[in-house]
Amino acid sequence: MSFETLNLNPQIQRAVKEEGYSEPTPIQAQAIPAVLEDKDILAGAQTGTGKTAAFTLPMLQKLSSKKGEGKRYVRALVLTPTRELAAQVHQSVRTYGKYLKLKSTEIYGGVSLYPQTRALRNGVDIVVATPGRLLDHLNQGNVDLSRVEILVLDEADRMLDMGFINDIKKIITELPHFRQNLLFSATFCEEIKRLSKTILKEPQIIKVTADNKTADRIKQTIFPVDRTKKADLLTHLIEVNNWKQVLVFTRTKHGADKLSRRLVQEGLPSTSIHGNKTQAARMKALKAFKDGRVRVLVATDVAARGIDIDRLGQVVNFDLPEVAEDYVHRIGRTGRAGNTGEAFSLVCVDERHLLHRIEKLTGAQIQKVLVEGFHPDPSIKPEAPKRRSKSGARGRSFGSGNSYRSSGSRENRKFQRKSY
Ligand code: AMP
Repeated sequence: MSFETLNLNPQIQRAVKEEGYSEPTPIQAQAIPAVLEDKDILAGAQTGTGKTAAFTLPMLQKLSSKKGEGKRYVRALVLTPTRELAAQVHQSVRTYGKYLKLKSTEIYGGVSLYPQTRALRNGVDIVVATPGRLLDHLNQGNVDLSRVEILVLDEADRMLDMGFINDIKKIITELPHFRQNLLFSATFCEEIKRLSKTILKEPQIIKVTADNKTADRIKQTIFPVDRTKKADLLTHLIEVNNWKQVLVFTRTKHGADKLSRRLVQEGLPSTSIHGNKTQAARMKALKAFKDGRVRVLVATDVAARGIDIDRLGQVVNFDLPEVAEDYVHRIGRTGRAGNTGEAFSLVCVDERHLLHRIEKLTGAQIQKVLVEGFHPDPSIKPEAPKRRSKSGARGRSFGSGNSYRSSGSRENRKFQRKSY
């Protein structure tokens, strides 16, 4: 299928062509015609599938085909969980809409209200916003949403995780009853199904990967290691494999800063990105990483939402996430738009229950690889595990028993491999 068959106007097609896209991704091929037919949509799509263009292109097409008269008013509203994602979606709106006469703005917290107020009061067709800051503007009477034609909830599962449900409901009371609703979510948990029932009208359901399955094009590996040796192993992996641009996830903000400092001490240019940093500092860190001045970006889950880096080859989970869905989101930072990617997880004995949850969610066992010099000490017991895993794994350590073999092959001399 080509973009020409999708009935997009020449200005949009020109912008798409300039981005170098030759054909629509599967989510785009399904969502674009449905949105153009005025349907509500419930789309299961992880980041990296081209989901932003899947809603942005038909949205632009619809808005530009009907001329607004007189003063501009908000006709499309996109809600996102994080500032980074709002900025990134807005950038896509600008890129794909650069030959159209539509105006758009981004609204999120952590930056001054005033320029946002001015933009809203001057009139825009499209608002891309995080829920909290948009509510502030609504409460101050800076924006009128009573003529919104299209509502997009992007990464809706993350918005629920982050506790935005009440804000979203309040915002929706400001919208007209008759409107088109597009809901995008990487995972379809019960809460999402409930939310979609209250918001969507006879939605067309689109899924580009099976429920909660991690993308096949991302090669996943677990490195069992003792908790005290994780930083050394990470440094070793970066150096031995000569990774040039690696995104590393930690569970805590403090952990992100500590690890980043440690990597710098080891001579690896690194910085961290997390919720305690100002928006400006987060943007600066991200830019340094994208530009290649920083080799390792250490991030927490929330801060990493919306990070879109073309051809990011490696993602490392320094800690496994508490919430299994976060694993899917994390590794989705690599292997984007049809590229292949690799996701590595450094897993210590304390994290067995987390690994079990991830494998249950994704429905696949992840290959486990021992790295020479970093074999876990089988005598180390888990430290205060949070919950007993159903597999009864508590108290058993990685590497206990004779479960790994040395491969000894030349091409794979750094690792000994065994699937489990
Ligand atoms: P998204 O899932 O929206 O975050 O998009 C992931 C990446 O895919 C972005 O870097 C887009 O620029 C890219 N992309 C979107 N659509 C296409 C396409 N049709 N062909 C190639 N790349 C695309």
